[in-house]
Amino acid sequence: MYRDADHPANASPGSDSTVVIVGAGQAGLSAAEKLRANGFAGSLVLIGEEPHPPYQRPPLSKDYLLGELERDRLKLKPEDWYAKHQITLRLGTGVVAIDRAPRSLRFADGGTLAYDRLVLATGSRARTLPDAVSRGLAGIFTIRSLADIDRLREVFDKGGRLLVIGGGYIGLEIAAVARGHGMAVNVVEAADRLLARVASAETATAVEALHRSRGVSFHLGTGVSELLGPDRVTGARLGDGTVIAADIVVAGIGGLPETALAGEAGLAIENGVAVDSHGRTDDPYIWAAGDCANFSLPEGGLRMESVGNAIDSADLVARNIMGARQPYKPKPWFWSDQFDLKLQIAGLSRPGDMVVVRQGQGAGRSHWYFRENRLVAVDGLNAPRDYLVGKRLLAAAVSPDPAQLLDPAVALETLARSPA
Ligand code: NAP
Repeated sequence: MYRDADHPANASPGSDSTVVIVGAGQAGLSAAEKLRANGFAGSLVLIGEEPHPPYQRPPLSKDYLLGELERDRLKLKPEDWYAKHQITLRLGTGVVAIDRAPRSLRFADGGTLAYDRLVLATGSRARTLPDAVSRGLAGIFTIRSLADIDRLREVFDKGGRLLVIGGGYIGLEIAAVARGHGMAVNVVEAADRLLARVASAETATAVEALHRSRGVSFHLGTGVSELLGPDRVTGARLGDGTVIAADIVVAGIGGLPETALAGEAGLAIENGVAVDSHGRTDDPYIWAAGDCANFSLPEGGLRMESVGNAIDSADLVARNIMGARQPYKPKPWFWSDQFDLKLQIAGLSRPGDMVVVRQGQGAGRSHWYFRENRLVAVDGLNAPRDYLVGKRLLAAAVSPDPAQLLDPAVALETLARSPA
């Protein structure tokens, strides 16, 4: 039982050890950074399948797509940072197998690499449309990697007609950018409302109103039955029979955790790589963090696809590899930029929560969610101060009085000082 304190996997890896991280996205990079910050002095290898050093994804579908941000500015760290921290970057390298008994990775070229501890930060991939819908047509895009956006950039023309499938963050962010770029935009969402999986109905309603006011058209409660066109896409037939013309289609229909490597190695998979509350898989030498990891917590399984979760879960895993033995106490936070709206979310709301709307001085406002009188989440809509105060209250497990929140004359800072 590796949970025994004296199992060798529980010892902090020393300066003669090797920790290998598979996946050079936000979670993989954060794990490497935090391993060093927590005193790991051994050999540290960060492996990425893409040819690029770790880069930020949020600006890809916005400033980078529009050519307003240089590729170089996407880098999460300057090039010399890796050498300074003695982190070996192996890019453009696909790991094809984990050989668990010898604790070794296999590469496509037949090479191998031994590890003492392994961190899986393989992330998630974009779901794609069924073949019967996409019909092999050109002009259909998903948004995830730099390469995806480089392809989209070539056809993202002013005056073009964009059809977005999926009304989640990916779909709405690209819809806003395209509309701002002068394109005609239709969004098709299978659910009856936008952002159904990731934001409250109140926030989704405000986001929808903003998009409509800027000329985005929505088709809710219906899917795409078939994309139309001889070889390039020219339009779509929806489930309700409506036909929409389109030159470009972006499918923002969700993400799937990258679990193939872990699954083939016989690790437990359950909506992601199954990890305990510390971030460890059922192999004591293997850990997982970020989009691919499903944490087993007292309140249930938790798998989140967000920058915040990539950073926080990688930080936890790095500390635990170094012996901290702490459970994940997620403090979810998200943001999304759409037109001139900065949406910031702290905590996780769910249907049935009591919602208090606090109107700000200007156009901003915030939505505060309570469950059994306990504050559980705050959404700031162009209300960064409300968001920050809410985040602080959530971290301190302090629940403000809803009546005071409703009163714009009550300063938020006062609420942050009120007792639990
Ligand atoms: P998402 O939040 O899962 O949204 C996808 C939406 O598309 C869902 O509402 C889904 O409905 C709908 N859908 C699925 N199949 C459809 C179909 N055939 N026709 C029409 N609608 C369909 O995922 P996403 O927007 O693609 O984003 C991927 C991940 O990246 C998510 O986890 C997201 O939160 C994250 N992300 C976050 C940010 C941010 O925090 N700012 C930005 C970008 C991406 P059903 O649920 O009913 O299937």
